Amino acid sequence: MKYSNSRSTKQMRLIFHIIQKNREHPTANEIFLAARQTLPQISLGTVYRNIDKLVESHKIFKFDSGENKFRYDIMEEEHYHARCLLCGKIRDLTGVDLSAVRKQCRKESHFKKLEIKLEITGICPECCK
Ligand SMILES: [Zn+2]
Ligand SMILES: [Zn+2]
Repeated sequence: MKYSNSRSTKQMRLIFHIIQKNREHPTANEIFLAARQTLPQISLGTVYRNIDKLVESHKIFKFDSGENKFRYDIMEEEHYHARCLLCGKIRDLTGVDLSAVRKQCRKESHFKKLEIKLEITGICPECCK
């Protein structure tokens, strides 16, 4: 018997859409809660499985936001994240270019696959009001 994969395709599309749509960099649990509004039967395990598949196929990426939580973002140009210490909101910084820093680190360390993890935090404009 041939198995139809339309249900899993639908689930994956929904999860991708949730991550893409609000640019809020949701956690797996937040994705799960949002997915349940459309598919009330969906389980947390299914959500995790779909997230992993999307990460593996480079449609989304996983990052550590510095709160001991993983968050998810859609794959696009390289960017950094600034996190508000009061409300936890994450802002995309697309204009920050660290290529000179990277080059220098590579030159001095002689490391390959060099990765720079940057934690940028502060107080967002809304919380400053
Ligand atoms: Zn804030
Ligand atoms: Zn982002």
